[in-house]
Amino acid sequence: MRSALLLRRLALLALAVSGCQPSGPPRSETVALADLLAGAELLAATAKIDFGTAAARPHLVRGWSWDESGEEPFVWSVGPESAIRFHVSRPHALELRFRCFAFHFEGAPAQSVDLALNGHALGRVEVGQGPAEHAVPVPAAALRAGANELSLSYGRTTAPERVAASADRRALGVAFHWLRFVGLDGAAFPEAAGDGLRVPAGSEVGFYLPAPDGLHLELRAVEREGTGSPVLEVAWQAEGEPPRTLAAFAAPRPRAEIPIPPGNPFGRLALRATGTGALRIDGSLAGDTAGAPLPVADHAEPRPPREGKRLNVLLYLVDTLRADALGCYGQPLPATRRLDAFAADAVLFESALAQSSWTLPSTATVLTGLRPAGHGLHTLDQGLTPDALTLAEVLREQGYQTAAFSSNLLLGRESGLDQGFEHYAVGTDPADVLTPRVLDWLAARDPDRPFLLYVHTIDPHWPYLPPADLVARLRPEPIDPALLSIDLRDDLRTGRITVDDELLGALETLYLAEASFADHWFGVLLDELRRLGIYDETVIVFFSDHGEELHERGGFGHGLHLHAEALRIPLIIRWPGAQRPRREPAPVEHLDVLPTVLDLIGLAHGPLPGRSLRAALAGSGAPRERPLVAELLKVDVADRAVQWRGFKLIEAFSVERGARRQLFRPEDVGELEDMARARPLFAGYLGALGRAALAGSPPAVLVAPAERDESVLEELRALGYAR
Ligand SMILES: [Zn+2]
Repeated sequence: MRSALLLRRLALLALAVSGCQPSGPPRSETVALADLLAGAELLAATAKIDFGTAAARPHLVRGWSWDESGEEPFVWSVGPESAIRFHVSRPHALELRFRCFAFHFEGAPAQSVDLALNGHALGRVEVGQGPAEHAVPVPAAALRAGANELSLSYGRTTAPERVAASADRRALGVAFHWLRFVGLDGAAFPEAAGDGLRVPAGSEVGFYLPAPDGLHLELRAVEREGTGSPVLEVAWQAEGEPPRTLAAFAAPRPRAEIPIPPGNPFGRLALRATGTGALRIDGSLAGDTAGAPLPVADHAEPRPPREGKRLNVLLYLVDTLRADALGCYGQPLPATRRLDAFAADAVLFESALAQSSWTLPSTATVLTGLRPAGHGLHTLDQGLTPDALTLAEVLREQGYQTAAFSSNLLLGRESGLDQGFEHYAVGTDPADVLTPRVLDWLAARDPDRPFLLYVHTIDPHWPYLPPADLVARLRPEPIDPALLSIDLRDDLRTGRITVDDELLGALETLYLAEASFADHWFGVLLDELRRLGIYDETVIVFFSDHGEELHERGGFGHGLHLHAEALRIPLIIRWPGAQRPRREPAPVEHLDVLPTVLDLIGLAHGPLPGRSLRAALAGSGAPRERPLVAELLKVDVADRAVQWRGFKLIEAFSVERGARRQLFRPEDVGELEDMARARPLFAGYLGALGRAALAGSPPAVLVAPAERDESVLEELRALGYAR
């Protein structure tokens, strides 16, 4: 108690001295260990890995394809080398056994696998075409306490497309059914037990934490479960320092207070159980966490209704529009005069992040208010089920007229995103064709009932083919017509073109001219709202679904990664009545759109991961700070980006490239200098914030298989989506 009071005084003093503290008032906080579990790293001694199961995935860190089912599930290795990570609590000699078979075809040469553990060569195994078991001895010296990496190098790899009638381009080596560490006791993973934890011997829970002076671990009771003799080890590792043991004792032990060593802002606290049996640990972390939050699950909460007028709602989405294409977001060329004028009469969110880097998951997030992992719409052959609740359904229930006009075929009815729209039109028309239809709908609607109108134009999407007069307005010298006929994806891949400054400059101009085109037609719709006298009766949300890479990383397009150019979007909201035009610097995301709209028109909602931006729109307060999490999930890709106070962590996993982790500083706006190796524990902290954020809104099963028309798939292929 005394120490908490002292902490608070010290923090207040620091506040007075520094004069400003962006993160709010200091507070002394006590967080139960169980509440920290959502962001924690859980390790358990591994005795077996069953390939093709969800439990195996965390072990397959590099060079593995997707899960496949046969008589027995298996996973192919992809590329010349693959790697498995596993945890050992006490190193000793053991035997490695596994069952596998080689990729086989007519005339296939023999296959071999070279095994190495943490860099120690273990030997070579010959692998045949039928499933067979193999055994390799592992000396104690090759193992280490904690994380171990087993590397498997293949004698040959072959893509099925080269040797058979197949479109499969994966460089396959060997398929694995299972792998066992014989002689190693496997342990269960740590888990929550009441407010505390159950930690089986051979397992470890790692908390990545901010470490303000005074942070301490309060252990109220450390019990042993059953008849074993478990021992608790508490270890701390600060950034740039070796790990050190803070305490070690056998259970039971009634009470202990363990201070976290000061002097370094971030570190990893490990609670490790050795011996036999399992520990039950009741305790919490306590300290002043104003500087940086502890990674605790951010549980979605319902919001009661507030006062709000039944205003019309216009959601206006321009596909593939980067924030920096707009003058009001810093574009020096005058590409977006109508949007710039609109922003001057609205609230512009300077730091808005897409929830994913392509249309389907981002749009589904806007329309359902759920995270991509929550709604689950990630591939073309899925659609939202009727269990999903959309904004259109909620507003229609409230008597709204609902209409959607989209020029992106991804939003076809198969996607299930049509739920709740009375009028739903999806095609491929540019904005000059789409907008008159929207105006017709406005003219024909019932003027006595409010409406939800969703407009989705696609002009800035590749191919960049804007009207010539818009190009001429941005750049006096003409563009070589040959540049208009290139196919960026294929020509770059085949090396038919190389991107020099001239080509890049031309493509940027064409892209900006497409933004001008989108800008013009947005302006036409605003003019019509004014002419109809409903501009001041309509909440207008202008935004994009994702950005676009313009060769920042050597490519073009989107849906490929979660870097800044793919995620920074414009978000401009006009709330008539309470409107105070301004620029809001606080970071916001797609998730916030739905709760904001409901809040502005006075409707309650159930638990949702997004926040209402109403206070920011009224000019009465910034949105509550929290980490932003974007996701890119495909059959063979699982990427996550966590942004917090301008720092950004990207954790990427792909079948082709394995697992990668990158960390970028706020000053590095282009995300070019990876700091993950220099600051691994801070990167771990951002990872914990991301895990905790996702844990607060667990996935629901809201998708089912859906088939798209071959003609639609053809069009989508032309846009670079379907394969
Ligand atoms: Zn899109």
